[in-house]
Amino acid sequence: MSSCPQAEGCPASCGVCLTDTILDMVWPKRKPVKQFLYIVEQNNTDLKLYDVIIIGGGPAGMSAALILARSRRNILIFDTGKQRNRMSDAMHGYLTRDGVSPAEFLKIARHELTCYDVEVQEVEIDFAEKTEDYFLVTDRNDQKYKCRKLLLATGLTDNIPDIEGIHDFYGKSVHHCPYCDGWEKRDKRIVVYGRGNAGHALSITMLNWTNNVILCTDGGKKPRQSQLAELKKRNVEIYTGKIDRLEGENGQLQKVHLCNGYTIDCNGMFFTNGYAQHSVLGRSLNCHYNMKNEIRVNHVQESSVEGLYVSGDAAHEMKLVIIAAGEGAKAAVAINVKLIEEDNARLLNS
Ligand SMILES: Cc1cc2nc3c(=O)[nH]c(=O)nc-3n(C[C@H](O)[C@H](O)[C@H](O)COP(=O)(O)OP(=O)(O)OC[C@H]3O[C@@H](n4cnc5c(N)ncnc54)[C@H](O)[C@@H]3O)c2cc1C
Repeated sequence: MSSCPQAEGCPASCGVCLTDTILDMVWPKRKPVKQFLYIVEQNNTDLKLYDVIIIGGGPAGMSAALILARSRRNILIFDTGKQRNRMSDAMHGYLTRDGVSPAEFLKIARHELTCYDVEVQEVEIDFAEKTEDYFLVTDRNDQKYKCRKLLLATGLTDNIPDIEGIHDFYGKSVHHCPYCDGWEKRDKRIVVYGRGNAGHALSITMLNWTNNVILCTDGGKKPRQSQLAELKKRNVEIYTGKIDRLEGENGQLQKVHLCNGYTIDCNGMFFTNGYAQHSVLGRSLNCHYNMKNEIRVNHVQESSVEGLYVSGDAAHEMKLVIIAAGEGAKAAVAINVKLIEEDNARLLNS
């Protein structure tokens, strides 16, 4: 690219350095600006146009890839290998795969995709934008790729409580989803870690699996008086003091030590401490989010941005592997239908 003819501090009005200026700015400043799109277009004509780029190679992304590959679409998956459940010993609740490790599940998924023409790149996408005709994504090496439809399957990351020792037990005897790991802890003595309404709700839910529930609020907000009364009536023990550390052996939690010197004996912990989007790409693409920071989608997983689909935990539905995979498949079919319609219209008009 030739250098900018204007003096230092050029506000990107010369049209020579404009593309670099737009693309090098950091989100959220890097929103696509409509009047500049023709310049982005000029510089990307030599890029291969994929039918679909999928960002995220967890259950949602891989499931979409399978359907799209079988629909003879040329697709490219980007993945950084940080699936949400990667710290877990075993994945539950997925019919035919109940109890396999998340790593084994992904290995099988990737192996199945090798039968088809699916390109996978293990690199992070750190920017995505929509032009009039296509989506343009940029990886962290500043390499650009373009596609007709874009699927975000980037998942979430969990806020793990900041307690000494927790990482020795996370995914083994410290969990957050009773539907995933509650069965293995049935009738056991279980600590629920949670504050306010969330701590109350998870305690009541946990009583479905065991009558031996202890709520710890770790010095944070207590449930309301009426909620505390309800929990006491259901024989839930309640500790509001700060937690000092966790103790156990070989991944099995045995004790929760409170800062006041008290120790709670237990067989496991379930926590509720919120989560965050794994990626900010939905923000840079101007997707609509709900109050829980989940991306809003319609009944076929299309976001508020036309042609941009979101599947799995990043979208606003229940968060289980089988649902993520189902949403990936749903988005894939919807995308393929759209591409067929667009191609048909173009050919009829040519
Ligand atoms: C400890 C734990 C245990 C769980 N156990 C179960 C269980 O037993 N059963 C069950 O059904 N569910 C379980 N879940 C929930 C399950 O993990 C999620 O529902 C599921 O992983 C969602 O799949 P996904 O494809 O949407 O996202 P993920 O599996 O999180 O995959 C997203 C992928 O996108 C990649 N990525 C993100 N941003 C980018 C980017 N910018 N560029 C490139 N790649 C990117 C990530 O690295 C990751 O590989 C568990 C969750 C946790 C935390």
